[in-house]
Parts: sequence; structure tokens; C-alpha cells
Amino acid sequence: MRILTFDIEDWFHILQKYPDDILDKWSNYEVRIHQGMDKIFKILDENNIKATFFVIGYIARKHPEIVKRIHDLGYEVGAHSDMHKVAYTQSRKQYGEDLSNCINSLQDITGEKIVSYRAPGFSIKKENVWAFEVLSELGIKYDASIFPASREDGGFDDFAESTPSVIKYKGVKIKEFPMSVNTVFGKRFTVTGGGYFRFFPYRFMRKMIARSNYTMTYFHPRDFDSEQPMLDGLSLKRKFKSYYNLSKSYTKLKQLAYDFDFIDIRQAEKMIDWDQAPLVDLTHYSDNK
Ligand SMILES: [Zn+2]
Repeated sequence: MRILTFDIEDWFHILQKYPDDILDKWSNYEVRIHQGMDKIFKILDENNIKATFFVIGYIARKHPEIVKRIHDLGYEVGAHSDMHKVAYTQSRKQYGEDLSNCINSLQDITGEKIVSYRAPGFSIKKENVWAFEVLSELGIKYDASIFPASREDGGFDDFAESTPSVIKYKGVKIKEFPMSVNTVFGKRFTVTGGGYFRFFPYRFMRKMIARSNYTMTYFHPRDFDSEQPMLDGLSLKRKFKSYYNLSKSYTKLKQLAYDFDFIDIRQAEKMIDWDQAPLVDLTHYSDNK
């Protein structure tokens, strides 16, 4: 099972500390999201494949036509937070308000319930597993926020499964589609998203994907926009992770879509025998907020 997903945000939504005047800052940046979106739509259409699009509320309000186009073309619209803040830095109340704003903005456009979600930067970790209660309260049934390896902004390195699982937290159950990881020399890493996707040569990536029976992907419109400006104030490491090999990534995505059959989360959910899926109980992690 290979699932294609895109996190829909503009080039300046790279995760960083957000000052109070972030909205002013954002509205002064050049809008470039359409370039990336057009390329994504083209690849999906040419290969006749579906994908799930996790959209931030900010984009839904600024560019409702993007959400409308995703929905009208028959692709799944999911939530990716309202303002793209990492989940674990927020209180439960802040987190719930932000997500609720996102869901409402998306539902206003699609007229359908939003049931799929991914946290910005895979930011559900041991410290904020309470997020699953909030997700359930807000009607989310499928989550793709778990990154079962260590990672700068998030990562749930002792999450045992890297296949679809049922997460249990207190009285709540959510179907989880974690990021897929490969293990080489005892180290877990992924090849099918963000900086990793740009870093590894395509042949290596294809080998890793062919070898596993579950692949989750995450791409952004900016991953396919090699003309984008570079955001100020990023560390050298961040710059490398965000911009390295950008000019080759569109060709890689094209090849990927051609070489493998991809489905979206809605289709995947129907194919899985959930009674046989691993049950992961997270209740024992402390409830700190
Ligand atoms: Zn994101």
C-alpha cells in the first residue's frame, strides 16, 4: 500500500518561531503556491492517481480556489492546522482553537466533513498525546501525524509501528497512518518526504519503496518550485534541509508517480482490515497540559 499526501502551505510557511506580527509578515511575501499546485495536479492527472491534501486554514481563507479545485477534482481535503504552529508548543485550548478554525475554513469551501489530519512537522509526540482527544472531539477519524523515528521538530521515536495502526488514548480511538520508515544499520529514516526526498538519489529511494509493503509520502507545493526565494533567519542546517537539490525534485516526483501505484487515505482506509491492525495504547504517556 502506497499513499500519496501533500501538505498545502506556501514557501514561507517553513516551521519557525512565530512572532505576534506573523500575519503582516506573511501578507508581504510573494505568493508562489500556485506554481507548485499546478505541477502536482498535472502529475496526478497524467498518472490517474489520487492523493490526500492536508491544507492549512490560512491558505483556505487566502486562496479558497485551491481548496475548491482539490475538492472538485475528487481528491481528499484534510486539515493541517490553521496557522502551521507545531502542536507541542501549544496548550490544549490553543491547539483545539487553531484546529477548529482550520476545519471550519475548509468545510465552508468543500461542504463536507473534514476527517483526516496531519500536524505541522509531525508534531504529536509523547509530550502531547492529549492531542488525540482533541482530534476526536473535532471529528477527525484518520491521523497522519506520527513520525516513528527521531526528527528535529517532532518525531515519536518509540512508536513501535510504521504501518497503519489503531491508536487508543484514554477513551478515544483514531486510525493512524504513520510516516513509513526504513531501517538501515539499525537507524530508522524515511525517503519519501521533505528534505529526505530531495537528499537521496531516486534509485535508492525506489529500492527502499519497492522493498516495503507500506509507504507514506509527504510533499509540499514548494518542494517543486525551484525559483522560490530563500527565507531569512534560517540556520545553515535548516537551509540545507529546506532547499538542497530543489531543482531535481519535480523530476523525482514524476518518476515516483510513474513507477508506483498511489492511493489516498480514504481509499487506504477502506482496504485495511482494522481488526487485524496493531492496537497502540498511548494512555500511559503522561497528560501534562
Ligand atoms: Zn506543514
